[in-house]
Amino acid sequence: MKTPLKIHTEHFRDGNREEFQYVLPADFLDFREEVISFHSPIHLQGEVYATDEHLILQLEAHTEIEMPCSVCNEKTFVTLKTEEIYHTIPFDEMEATIFDFTDIVREEIVILIPQFIECNQGKCPTRTDIAKFMKSKAVNTQNHFPFADL
Ligand SMILES: [Zn+2]
Repeated sequence: MKTPLKIHTEHFRDGNREEFQYVLPADFLDFREEVISFHSPIHLQGEVYATDEHLILQLEAHTEIEMPCSVCNEKTFVTLKTEEIYHTIPFDEMEATIFDFTDIVREEIVILIPQFIECNQGKCPTRTDIAKFMKSKAVNTQNHFPFADL
């Protein structure tokens, strides 16, 4: 897939800094996972600059995915947002003067996909049913709510 995330490193070695801001289509991630669908664009912003020996890439990204609730399997939306991330790439290790940081962005977003997700802002109605059921079955558990701390 064509990516805007290819940069000419020589440009930065000459002392230039460049800020960037992109809204990339969801399929940019090229993410093939059956239960998860990326459907929102990926918002990406950051800055590129260089020191004598390194290319510095600073970026932040966020998007939204849809995946099934871990409790009831209902489709639910999850926001994925990175912190401000820094990547330092030594010029020595680059094979070309064009550097493509598509994979870096992809990995930083994919790593944020949760293993466990609940619908309804973390209060899956099905889980509440389970909690009530457990409470009614328990003996001598007044003021004891097994899921209250979750
Ligand atoms: Zn649910």
